[in-house]
Amino acid sequence: MRPELPQKANVVIVGSGIIGAVIAYYLTRKGISDVLVLEQGEIGSQGATSACLGGLRTQFSTAVNIRFSLISRKVYRRFKEEFGVDPGFKPYGYLFLATTPKQWTIFKSTSRLMKVLDVPVESLSPQEVSRRWPFIRVDDLSGGSYTKEDGFYSPIEILQTYVKKARQGGTVFMEKVQVTGISINNNSAVGIQTKDAHNIKAGIVVNAAGPWAGRVASMAGLELPIVPLKRHLFFTDTFHEIPDIFPMVIDVDSGWYMKREGRGLILGGPTGSKSFSQHVDFDAKEWTAEKSIQRIPALERAKIIRGWVGHYEMTPDHHAVIGAFPELRNFICAAGFSGHGFQHAPAAGMIVAELIANGKAETEDIYPLRPTRFKENDLIYEPITAFRD
Ligand SMILES: Cc1cc2nc3c(=O)[nH]c(=O)nc-3n(C[C@H](O)[C@H](O)[C@H](O)COP(=O)(O)OP(=O)(O)OC[C@H]3O[C@@H](n4cnc5c(N)ncnc54)[C@H](O)[C@@H]3O)c2cc1C
Repeated sequence: MRPELPQKANVVIVGSGIIGAVIAYYLTRKGISDVLVLEQGEIGSQGATSACLGGLRTQFSTAVNIRFSLISRKVYRRFKEEFGVDPGFKPYGYLFLATTPKQWTIFKSTSRLMKVLDVPVESLSPQEVSRRWPFIRVDDLSGGSYTKEDGFYSPIEILQTYVKKARQGGTVFMEKVQVTGISINNNSAVGIQTKDAHNIKAGIVVNAAGPWAGRVASMAGLELPIVPLKRHLFFTDTFHEIPDIFPMVIDVDSGWYMKREGRGLILGGPTGSKSFSQHVDFDAKEWTAEKSIQRIPALERAKIIRGWVGHYEMTPDHHAVIGAFPELRNFICAAGFSGHGFQHAPAAGMIVAELIANGKAETEDIYPLRPTRFKENDLIYEPITAFRD
C-alpha cells in the first residue's frame, strides 16, 4: 500500500531527477533529514535524467560552467570510495569539431580560459585530427578541440545511489505525486499543493523540476524561462569499422554527435520543437544519417536500428538557474541545466544544500546563475553545446 503523504517537511523538493536527488543527499549530509522529494512519475523513468548519456566534459566557454564540471568530477572520481558503487567511468575524451573560423575563435578563447583554470585541452589542426582518428573526415574543418580526461559515467546507477543514500539519511521520496500549486504567505513559500488536493507545509520549497521547472515557477507567480527542447537520438547495430574506443565527436555547427555504446554507436540527431513531444520525427533519421556519413564516411555501412527522444531543460543562455527570486523567500530554483545537468549535479547539490543550511553558497560563486538575470538582460551565453536550439 502506498504510504500517506506527510503533512509537513522542513524541505520539499519538487522533482526527483538527478538534481533533486543530489540536493536531498547533500541536505542529509548537513544534518537536514526532514526532506520530502515529490516525483510526478517514477524515479529515473521520465525527465531529462532518463535520457541522459552520462557525459562529463570540462570544455565550456564560461568559468562557472568549467568550475561546476571540476567540482562534480572530483565527486564522481571518488564515487566508489564515498558510496561503494562503481560509477562506470569510460575515459573516452571529448572532441569538438569546428567548421568555421568564427567557431574556431570561440574554441581558442575557451582554451585560454581552460588553461587559466588549469584544465588540459588540446587545440588540434585538421591534419592532427585526421592523424589520430583517420575515420573522421576533416577537409571542411577549422580545427578540433580535445579534452582527453573527459568521459562517461552510468547516470541511472548514480541517480539510484543518490536516492538510496539520501533515503538512508532520512529523506522521504514519494513517486506519482504531482505538485500543482505553491502555497505563499507574506512573500514566502510555505508549502505545496498536490494534484490529489493534499496540502503539505514546508519551510523551504526547491524547484528541481527539470524541463517542467518553468511551469512549477509559474505556480508561484514567477517567470522562469526554462523550456523543454526535444532531442532525437539514434542507435546503430553492431559496427566495428571504426575503433572500439574513440572520443565523443561533436560537430558544433549542426549539433550532430557520435559516441560508442557497446558494440554499436549512439548518433545525436536533430533537436526538434520546444515541447514534451515524444514523437520521433519523420525527417530526423534522414538528417542523422546524412550528417553521420558527412563526418564519418564509413557510417554509410552502419544500420540505424532504433530512435528515441529526450528533453533538455533549456534556459535562454544555456546556464542553470540556482537561487531564489528576491520577491519570494524560501523558494529555491535549481533547474535549467541546459543539457549538462548530470555533470553539474554534485556541484549544484552541494551549493543548494549550503544555501538552505547556511543561507549562502560557499563552494562556488553562483551570482552568474541568479534567476533575475533574464529580467536584467545580463545573460552569460554558452555556445559550446552538443545541440542547436
Ligand atoms: C538526450 C539527452 C542526453 C543528455 N546527455 C547528457 C550528458 O551526457 N551529460 C550531462 O551532464 N547531461 C546530459 N543531459 C542533460 C541532463 O540529462 C539534464 O541536465 C539533467 O538530467 C537534469 O536533471 P533534473 O533533475 O534537473 O531534471 P529531470 O531529470 O527532468 O528531473 C525533473 C523531475 O521533476 C519531475 N517533475 C516535474 N514537474 C513536477 C511536478 N509538478 N511535480 C512532481 N514532480 C515533477 C519530473 O517528472 C522529473 O522526474 C542530456 C539530456 C538529454 C535529453
